[in-house]
Amino acid sequence: MNYKDYIRVIEDFPQPGIRFKDITTLLGDGQAYRAAIEEMKAALKDKQIDLIAGPEARGFVIGAPLALALGVGFVPIRKSGKLPGETVEASYDLEYGKDKLAIHKDAIAPGQRVLIADDLLATGGTIATTMDLIRQVGGEVVGASFLIELTYLNGREKLDGTDVFSLIQY
Ligand code: AMP
Repeated sequence: MNYKDYIRVIEDFPQPGIRFKDITTLLGDGQAYRAAIEEMKAALKDKQIDLIAGPEARGFVIGAPLALALGVGFVPIRKSGKLPGETVEASYDLEYGKDKLAIHKDAIAPGQRVLIADDLLATGGTIATTMDLIRQVGGEVVGASFLIELTYLNGREKLDGTDVFSLIQY
């Protein structure tokens, strides 16, 4: 399937100079959405994954169906102040703006093998921070899987040589 046909590129959103990759058009097509998740799942078949972690909000729409397809649990990584239990937090820079992410301290048992899932790898700031949080609570990061990778931003370089899979590249 040519997934790019299902992704809408919106110029200058949320600010001038950003070419926003809008995945809502892919999510809105049941066949394309399912095919994308199935293909991401197939690429992970040799990894022994205990859990998938995804940063809000678009990491949920990729990570949760992937977790269901693999039959493993899902750990939400949320913006600061949203998780009700005891958390660990970390700040980071975005391609546009700044943010703070949090994870529940008890979300991952020591040594559990965690795959990170998100919609898009840009500068890698979000995923580097997510990796940091997973490690702080005792998890082992075994890879990161994305619908889209903006290769010109070299996000992989921020991810300590972690195995990265992306379905579509720009
Ligand atoms: P980053 O931390 O720079 O890798 O960016 C992470 C998040 O920002 C991604 O998961 C996207 O949700 C969002 N993002 C960054 N750049 C874009 C873009 N050009 N189009 C769509 N989403 C983007």
